Amino acid sequence: MVIKRKEPHDLAVRLFPRPPTYEEERYAFMIRGFSLLCKINFNHYSTLALFYHCMRMIDIRNCPCPKCGTRHPDWDEHATYIRYLIGFEKGDVVCDSVEITRFKCPSCGTTHGILPEFVIPFKSHSLFFVLAVMKDYFMGLKIADISAKYEISVSTLYAWKDLFLKHKRMWLGVLEDTLTSTEQFLTFLRNEGLKRRLHEFFAATNRSFFQGCGNPPRSGRFMPD
Ligand SMILES: [Zn+2]
Repeated sequence: MVIKRKEPHDLAVRLFPRPPTYEEERYAFMIRGFSLLCKINFNHYSTLALFYHCMRMIDIRNCPCPKCGTRHPDWDEHATYIRYLIGFEKGDVVCDSVEITRFKCPSCGTTHGILPEFVIPFKSHSLFFVLAVMKDYFMGLKIADISAKYEISVSTLYAWKDLFLKHKRMWLGVLEDTLTSTEQFLTFLRNEGLKRRLHEFFAATNRSFFQGCGNPPRSGRFMPD
């Protein structure tokens, strides 16, 4: 059973359509906060606490505009919205509501939501969640057991597996991908990738790790293979 925690009292903001479609994220390029996890022991945080801790670490003044490229826009706080964020904590699937802040770039007039690196655009489940599922899958746990444990459908599990393998290839390149097992790649993500390397995938592919190909990239340059 999914545990739904109460929304924080100070989140007196409007609700947007529920997953998988986040209108705010669908039509806006997201600002991503990277290399936040290298500064903290994220294993000590709940998903909700980690989200707000990471958000406090992001200095919006140092975030360039993802639309026009202005390096230090004089960002205006534009609006907020609520989205779901699902984590896996001590054996339970936990669903939180988190507040996303949108900022307006005075140079080009566009607005952008800001997400820490472990929140996947357009997905409710956190990156930690989907990687935990992938770990169990590639360790050979039964499909039915994984589906029950994480409360996801079998079709979702296979869709995540396909996306994981595709992004592994995009990250490593075709040659290195063939030489790197899924277990090795998951170990790399756990030890190094999540802490300080996610920005490399973002820079190389123009989208966030585990962001589905059905969702728009941060600009029009990305060409899916
Ligand atoms: Zn701009």
